[in-house]
Amino acid sequence: MHCPHILVTVLSSCAQVGESSRVTFLGNTRLGQDVSLSALLANYHAVLCTYGAAEDRLLGIPGESLAGVVSARDLVSLYNGAPDSNLSLAASSLDTDTVAIVGMGNVALDVARLILAPVNVLRKTDVSDTWLEMRAKSRVKRVVVIGRRGPLNVSFTIKELREMIKLPAVQSVINPSDFEGVQGQLKSLERPRKRLTDLLLKTMGSDQGSQDEAWELKLWRSPVSVLGEERVTGLELRDTRDSDVTERLECGLVVRSVGYSSVRADPQLPWDDTKRVISNEDGRARGCPGLYTAGWLGTGPRGVIIDTMNTAFRVAASLVSDLGGQQLTERPGLEGLGEAVRAGATSWADWQRLDTEELRRGVAKDKARDKI
Ligand code: NAP
Repeated sequence: MHCPHILVTVLSSCAQVGESSRVTFLGNTRLGQDVSLSALLANYHAVLCTYGAAEDRLLGIPGESLAGVVSARDLVSLYNGAPDSNLSLAASSLDTDTVAIVGMGNVALDVARLILAPVNVLRKTDVSDTWLEMRAKSRVKRVVVIGRRGPLNVSFTIKELREMIKLPAVQSVINPSDFEGVQGQLKSLERPRKRLTDLLLKTMGSDQGSQDEAWELKLWRSPVSVLGEERVTGLELRDTRDSDVTERLECGLVVRSVGYSSVRADPQLPWDDTKRVISNEDGRARGCPGLYTAGWLGTGPRGVIIDTMNTAFRVAASLVSDLGGQQLTERPGLEGLGEAVRAGATSWADWQRLDTEELRRGVAKDKARDKI
């Protein structure tokens, strides 16, 4: 589920670009498979790769391959109605009373919220029908978000925490024993971290009554193994403050939410195998003139949308300045890519038809958009 305001802004900027007579949109075209990097570089003065991070990081613990261990990415794809969604997960994932989410970033909170948000609220958004059906049948009562460090190192941000706390009829459970000594450190924190920690402390101390459903923040715990024979029955956790202390959390679904990573779509891309990004300096690919990168493919999977946009604006400025400093000789552009590439592509007009149809179906169902 996207933030409606940002989605509208992104879609309207996207439409402005797509409708420009100087832009040709070729969708459904995979770098490294339908078109090679060398073909693009031979036909254009500049190539900018911004295809993001399509894989998720693993925990590397025993039991991780059991049924019932899923990546946050898989669930995000399901609720966003992505074409590559793993629909086999839809049947059983929420058929349990407890879900454990490992990692405490914004993706973890987004997934927790989408599991617990009331179905009648979700129905008004662009969440997929598959997710709405999953939620309608869901037996989940408790979602536990697990972080290996303490309160001052949570990676989620205040806006996402607020949305979690505001969920109607869902209790927020924050354990005082995880917050020892934090009150005394508040004054020395930078403002955003202080506000976030204040909100956690305030929520911890608030009387929310007892509710049927809850989300719990479990800090200072690292997963040691996933328990179960064929399917997950629980998670063994170790206290990161005292490695002799372990505990078992019974749960029927474990969601891995420990970050994303990018893939090297074309063997010619200069690649940083440690960071799993295109090797680059401020967006200029190393050792490959004319090649640029922006977004998570260049920076790694961090930052909220505004950070990604700001980096992208800087890369665009570098690209324009580099081109301005060169004597440009004619390049064939689209014509040089060959008929096969053009014939298999989705055009901008195709995209507009999809957009119009999704909005039309959305009106019929009284929701923002009904994704195809
Ligand atoms: P993230 O913010 O990097 O959080 C990853 C979490 O996983 C951290 O808590 C990290 O803990 C933990 N972790 C990593 N390896 C682990 C391991 N082996 N065992 C246990 N825990 C582990 O990543 P994300 O949540 O995937 O989000 C990616 C980016 O997208 C972030 O910048 C996020 O803010 C952004 N995002 C924004 C929005 C939004 O604006 N609404 C929504 C979704 C995502 P440590 O800190 O201890 O490493």
